[in-house]
Amino acid sequence: MLGTASQVPTRHRNHNGYLLRWDGEGLLFDPGEGTQRQMLRAGVAAHDIDRICVTHFHGDHSLGLAGVIQRINLDQVPHPVTAHYPASGQRFFERLRYATAYRETVPLTEAPVSGDGVLARTPAYTLEAHRLSHPVESYGYRLIEPDGRRMLPALLAEHGIAGPDVGRLQREGSLNGVTLDEVSETRRGQRFAFVMDTRLCAGVRTLAEGCDLLVIESTFLDEDERLASEHGHLTAGQAGRAAHEAGVRHLVLTHFSQRYGDPDEFERQARAAGFDGELTVAADLVRVPLPKRSG
Ligand SMILES: [Zn+2]
Repeated sequence: MLGTASQVPTRHRNHNGYLLRWDGEGLLFDPGEGTQRQMLRAGVAAHDIDRICVTHFHGDHSLGLAGVIQRINLDQVPHPVTAHYPASGQRFFERLRYATAYRETVPLTEAPVSGDGVLARTPAYTLEAHRLSHPVESYGYRLIEPDGRRMLPALLAEHGIAGPDVGRLQREGSLNGVTLDEVSETRRGQRFAFVMDTRLCAGVRTLAEGCDLLVIESTFLDEDERLASEHGHLTAGQAGRAAHEAGVRHLVLTHFSQRYGDPDEFERQARAAGFDGELTVAADLVRVPLPKRSG
């Protein structure tokens, strides 16, 4: 959690910003103003960023692009970087990318998002975008790890398969008439979603569905639900209920309005709305581990 404030930074919260480490890759989400310095404080290097995902072009989600992109080039990051953002904000992306003079040393691929769907497939994940509901075009993002197979030692033993034969069976799918399916079970891939700046909508439900870890905005408390829907935001109770209905395992609430004093109230309202999994009220520089595999 690089920053957890909506709209304006406060004494305790930087503008928004999040880094997800997923196997060997780093995905930077919604870098607001000051993200470069927050990365330093969090021990995140420009080298750690492989992909940048921007939900929408409000300043608290994108003003940090200028600094982060220049830093990637200053440090001559040795791999290409890909940036996803709403296609309708192309001009904002270009302005931020070329806000001041610097020398470009790193290939940065612009991969604008113009509708729901798959943005990238790697061995470690499929990255998807889904449209949200906000006054400017906004997309949430979801990573889904491909399902794997979990070998079952008792069944392997029953079929007399041991040692290097296990690897051979995994590679080839069958061995001496025994198929992989007979001695293993599906190991469900893990899921992460990032949902920022939206009213409740179908996109929220799709993104949250079955997530191991959901990072979601809860700008407002429930008593300000009318304000929330006017400005295209969620309340803590709405986020909690959506997470509960989607079967989320670990819920991270963030993007808080400066108008509230007690962060614990966000948790109380999300709990009151039915969410009973693990819950973190985000604070700057806190690390949240992806939950261990459920089975
Ligand atoms: Zn925002």
